[in-house]
Formats: sequence, C-alpha cells, structure tokens
Amino acid sequence: MQTISIIVPAYNEEEALPAFYRECSRVLSSLGRGWEILFVDDGSTDNTLDVMRSLAQDDPNVHYLSFSRNFGKEAAMFAGLRNAQGSYVAIMDADLQDPPELLGRMVEALDSGEYDSVAAYREDRAGEPIVRSALSRSFYHWMSRMSDTEVKSGARDYRLMTRRMVDAVLSMGERNRFSKGIFSWVGFKTLWIPYANVERVAGTTKWSLSGLARYSIDGLVNFSQAPLAVASTGGLLLTLLSFVLVIFVIVRKLVFGDPVAGWASTICIISFIGGIQLLCLGIIGQYLAKTYLETKERPHYFVAESSRDDVDMIG
Ligand code: UDP
Ligand code: MG
Repeated sequence: MQTISIIVPAYNEEEALPAFYRECSRVLSSLGRGWEILFVDDGSTDNTLDVMRSLAQDDPNVHYLSFSRNFGKEAAMFAGLRNAQGSYVAIMDADLQDPPELLGRMVEALDSGEYDSVAAYREDRAGEPIVRSALSRSFYHWMSRMSDTEVKSGARDYRLMTRRMVDAVLSMGERNRFSKGIFSWVGFKTLWIPYANVERVAGTTKWSLSGLARYSIDGLVNFSQAPLAVASTGGLLLTLLSFVLVIFVIVRKLVFGDPVAGWASTICIISFIGGIQLLCLGIIGQYLAKTYLETKERPHYFVAESSRDDVDMIG
C-alpha cells in the first residue's frame, strides 16, 4: 500500500495551522494507509514554529523543518519534496485553500496506475480582487503563448505525485524555481481536477501585487526565451525602418534641397529608439541576472531546526 506525504509550506500561519492539521489529518486517516504531514516553516516571525512543535509532539505522523530565514515558498516546497518519505507526495497550502477532501480522488487516480500526478485548479476566482484576477488570467494566457511549457490557468501548487515524478522534479536543481513550470516541464501524465475557489481560513495572503508581478516575470524568464526573440526581432525591424528613413531623407534632399526640417519628429524618433534600446537591454539583463544567480550555485535554503534528525541542514 502506497503511503502519503503532505508537504505544507508555511510562513506566518500560526492561526491557520491548527485548523489545517485537524481537517487534513481527518481526511488522511480516512484513507486507511500510512501518512505523514511535513510542515516547512519558511522563517516565520510569529509562533508558527511553536505550533508545529506542539503538533509534532502530539502526533508521530507530523514532522516539521524550519528554515533559518524566509527563503520563499518555492524553496519551502523544494525542501519538503526532498525530505518527504511517502511514496505519494502532495503539496498543500497551510490556509486550507487547497481542499483536503480532494485527496481521496487524487489517491484513487494514482492508484489506477494511469497517472503520475493529479493536480487541482480553481474553476473560478470568486472572492479575489478583480484587478488581481484579471492580471493573473492575462499572465497565464501570455505564459502559454510565449513558452512551450503549458501552465494551466487557475492551477495551484496543490498536487499529488508519484515517487518517480517527485524524483524528476528534484533532479531539476535550478536556483530560480518556478514550480508550476517545472511540474509541467518534467512531463508525465497529469489528471486535472477542478474545484470552486475557497477563501483562506485565517491569516492573510502573503502576496502583494508587486510580489505577483515579480513571480510572473520569474515564470516567463525561467521558461521562455520569447522576450529575447521579441527584442532581437524588434531591433531588426527598427533597423530596416531606419534604412527606409535614410533613403527618404536623401531623396527629399535631392528633390527639395532642404534636409533640415522636423526637429520635433527627430526628437520623437530619438527618444523612441532610446526607449526601445533600454527595454531590450533590460530584457537581456533579466536573463543575465538569472544566469548570474545560477552560476553562484548557492544553496536553496538552510534548515535551522527539524523534528527529524536525518534532514540535511544545507539544501
Ligand atoms: N508561503 C511560504 N513562504 C512565503 C510565502 C508564502 O511558505 O514566503 C506559504 C504560505 O504560508 C501558504 C502558501 O505559501 O501556505 C500560499 O501562500 P498564500 O496563501 O499567501 O498565497 P495565495 O493562496 O494567496 O496564492
Ligand atoms: Mg492561500
């Protein structure tokens, strides 16, 4: 019988964790097989770690590891995947926005042997600010158009995977992690389960608009070279245009004899070209920055404390 590990990245979730544990352990126990919950404390500044400690003390199925500082959800998921011991591994948010009730169907689908992963996506974005959901939607739209890696709109990080899929994900040791892209990039057959959006049980979201914008740019830069192609194609087109303009100016000089006219239009063109150049440099810079960070090969995270003693402190 396959055992189940649930990875729960948590950053300042002291209010949500007890409810999460109650719900999730109830569903897990009903599945009639071995399970563990592995909490990853992502450098919380509230009492999240204390809550984890006491949950782990009361229930031998609960484990935790705690980062030396906030490394971000991507690092927390990576650490969880590395240290999960079950043969099926799921990632779930601590705020119960990923309904534990879906676990039963997920396990069933993997048991059938037909799929290596079962992922959940939100059918709607009810309760989310309008601007935010519009921006998110357009991100997924452009992400799919600009990269070969399909990222499903409304997809969450909530999914249950088989051991071989987890190993594939772990073999991708990149520092700039964009898990939604990685899950899709490794392939394997995925079953998508829709569900209605749920609001978080307690606490507040960790996402700001600027945080989401950065996340989107990361996703694009990590899984698409399209912006670079746009930059070089744009450069080529502008060069062609300037040839046409040069010929136009020469012909006008020969026919009318006065090349010095149109100061305003000249300034417009100069600033337009200057803007385009800076934009393209910026695009290249984004890729360069990623390359720079990758070449440093810094660890993904440091573990400061864990309920297990076989956890690598440097990850
Ligand atoms: N999270 C984390 N590290 C961070 C930010 C968030 O581990 O730096 C966790 C957070 O505790 C939660 C999950 O990631 O369990 C999703 O965060 P949130 O609910 O804020 O995102 P949303 O559901 O609004 O997309
Ligand atoms: Mg949430």
